[in-house]
Amino acid sequence: MKIAFHGAARTVTGSKHLITLNNGKKILLDCGMFQGMGKETGVMNENFGFDAAQVTHMILSHAHIDHSGLIPLLVKKGFKGTIYCTPATRDLTEILLLDSAKIQEDDVKYSNKKRQKEGQPLIEPLYKISDAEKSVSALKAVNYKTWFRVDDDLEILFTDAGHIIGSAAVHLRITENGKTTQISFSGDIGRYNDAILRAPDIFPQADYILMESTYGSTLHAEAEASDDRLIYYIRHTCKEKKGKLIIPAFSVGRTQELLYALNRAQLEGKLPKVDIFVDSPLSLEATEVVRSHPEVFNKTVSKLLEIDEDPFDFPGLHYIRTVDESKQLNFREEPCVIISASGMAEAGRVKHHIANNIDNPRNTILIVGYCEPQSLGGKLMRGAKEVSIYSTHHEVKAEIGVIRSMSAHGDYEDLGQWLACQHPQDVKKLFLVHGEYEVQQVLRDWLLKKGFPAIEIPERHSVVNLL
Ligand SMILES: [Zn+2]
Repeated sequence: MKIAFHGAARTVTGSKHLITLNNGKKILLDCGMFQGMGKETGVMNENFGFDAAQVTHMILSHAHIDHSGLIPLLVKKGFKGTIYCTPATRDLTEILLLDSAKIQEDDVKYSNKKRQKEGQPLIEPLYKISDAEKSVSALKAVNYKTWFRVDDDLEILFTDAGHIIGSAAVHLRITENGKTTQISFSGDIGRYNDAILRAPDIFPQADYILMESTYGSTLHAEAEASDDRLIYYIRHTCKEKKGKLIIPAFSVGRTQELLYALNRAQLEGKLPKVDIFVDSPLSLEATEVVRSHPEVFNKTVSKLLEIDEDPFDFPGLHYIRTVDESKQLNFREEPCVIISASGMAEAGRVKHHIANNIDNPRNTILIVGYCEPQSLGGKLMRGAKEVSIYSTHHEVKAEIGVIRSMSAHGDYEDLGQWLACQHPQDVKKLFLVHGEYEVQQVLRDWLLKKGFPAIEIPERHSVVNLL
């Protein structure tokens, strides 16, 4: 058999890896969207590098759009198989894909209005809501920790990855010519001391491993420090500067983590009195899905649930649903906190909030998650003095804050801990995926010292034979 790396290969988005068996069957691991890759993004998303109609099965590690976002395009291009994932991933993916399709339809409508005025040709969305609806029916839930037989050649196992709710490392047992080979794919690996989720789980010995490497050269600060920083930015922006604090955050995962931290600060009397808006209908739905899967919480949250029936809700928290309500926030004079998607500020309502608030030094834009260097969030993080948002030029006068340690991705110690259940010598090849190349090279050197004999950093569309 062979494996081809069609996305998240020397980049952090677009996760997509295709295994082809000798009998022609094709198994696709993730079908993620590329995000924040500049002008190339659209073309990269349209061209998979393989024929979607020939894919036999798909397995999804978790619901994040950079892992699931092109499933509707896969279905549109002719994929007819089943998509295996955990129960919480199925529920989250359903709302995320419908939302993603809506964002694309809306963004294209917005751009086309401009294009029409300028006499430019109109553009089509990558996929529509109807495509997303079709793909949702292909999702099949499989529980953690039990091998599930897909067909004669393939068994799959999900183990907890501790990254967002429902996130899994995916293990495949593939039988060819009477010989069974195990390929383990980390998906995204969370942290061993996450505030909400259980730690990543151990897994059986693998022959080949694909491991993410987002923070492969970083050690995160303690989680408590990031909670304190969050409260500092609220006090500094809303109380001292009397401005607005805009926080771009993934609707799934990061938003709940922020709400959980704010709820805890409120219980401890540390949260300044200020209105906090979550401006993302998707975040509201995602928070409801999170609440409906208490089986994924760690012991601390389970214990908190005994005294606080909703660890994601507190006085002063408001959800914004409609576009009109969202626009009203622009006219609001009083200080407030606005948490809105997307996490890299590439799309969604947060992009409008940034455009409306970036020219006032009273305001702060706080980056709390990973941002592709080319994304709007990435540019702000690197201290850009001017940016273009929806083709309009803006000077960056607002303060830019960054909390790096608030991450859903493990640092290199966490990645090392995830691998600690393996005999390094028995891993024929360890592929580093889902990371920036410079970071991956540092991680490779560190893992070589840990005893993993063969480590590769595949390029996009490269193919490797697995024996
Ligand atoms: Zn993720």
